[in-house]
Amino acid sequence: MALMSSTYLDELRAQGRLSRQQWLSILVEAQNSPAFAEKIRSCAHAIRERYFGRTVFIRGLIELSNYCRNDCYYCGIRKSNGEISRYRLTPEQILDCCRLGHELGFRTFVLQGGEDAWFNDGRLAALVATIRERYPDTAITLSMGERSRASYERLFAAGADRYLLRHETVNPQLYASLHPEQQRLATRLDCLRNLQAIGFQAGAGFMVGAPGQTLAHIAEDLVFLGDFRPAMVGIGPFIPQHATRYAQEPAGSVSLTLILLSLLRIMLPNVLLPATTALGTMDPQGHVKGMRAGANVVMPNLSPADVRDKYLLYDNKLASGSEAAEGLEILRQSLAEAGYEIVVARGDQPPMQN
Ligand code: SF4
Repeated sequence: MALMSSTYLDELRAQGRLSRQQWLSILVEAQNSPAFAEKIRSCAHAIRERYFGRTVFIRGLIELSNYCRNDCYYCGIRKSNGEISRYRLTPEQILDCCRLGHELGFRTFVLQGGEDAWFNDGRLAALVATIRERYPDTAITLSMGERSRASYERLFAAGADRYLLRHETVNPQLYASLHPEQQRLATRLDCLRNLQAIGFQAGAGFMVGAPGQTLAHIAEDLVFLGDFRPAMVGIGPFIPQHATRYAQEPAGSVSLTLILLSLLRIMLPNVLLPATTALGTMDPQGHVKGMRAGANVVMPNLSPADVRDKYLLYDNKLASGSEAAEGLEILRQSLAEAGYEIVVARGDQPPMQN
């Protein structure tokens, strides 16, 4: 098994993809053998250094709205959660966040929100166009869920560069167990394909340790990501939220998340790979450990302080300290102590090297 997994790892480096069975073999071995997990990590880190050196790209996260028309069973802001107080930032508040972020050195803004009908195409495109005009040196990432192809085209034309849409799982049964019937995996995958075809740097991803998820499911996701070749991949440990049906479920594993970050770096050498807020929430050293595993992005929160505790996708979500934009100096310091350097740059995906 160990020898076979090592051979598969070599194949992954050479070909950039593996079969489901090969992935499963690697995942099982990596979880059972610290030596093999370390081999994966050091290989991933060497690739990270080749493409990005020791630099870290920062993204200023602005959480526009916690209204959502969807009802993903794991999510704290899903529409049927009557416990939370809802908010929506005004365009002026959002532009204020951008101004502060630009002063702090952010050159990517991530506009994220639930699927809130208030942000129709006209309003969202106008907002994107204003940010594009005011901050021409800055990349605009959207994370606003499933929309029509025409909507994505309009947002791209307005000046958006990147779009994050986690696929969550490509396994139809698992997808159906995490979402109500009207939310379809096929729609999600169509959206991702549309985004990529339009020219967005498209990002997919999933939760590690989602309720019902097995290593075999993760292997399927890795096959999908190998075929889809996203520009960004967002993965983080599942963290239960008290007002969901999964309140009592165990959180996902930090160590498996780190192994997966490394495997993603090896499979997609130039991918933009965040050490996510969920990882930082689960482990105080999550950002540094993520960088050592092959990640190269962090996304501090630029949202106004008084709404941050309302965007509670899961419990105990980090929204202060090194995760908050004002804590950028703390983050810079802790990454610097580990040998990494936050840079002021758009942080686009570099081309693949031979
Ligand atoms: S995960 Fe996203 S789409 Fe689903 S309920 Fe939460 S905010 Fe809405």
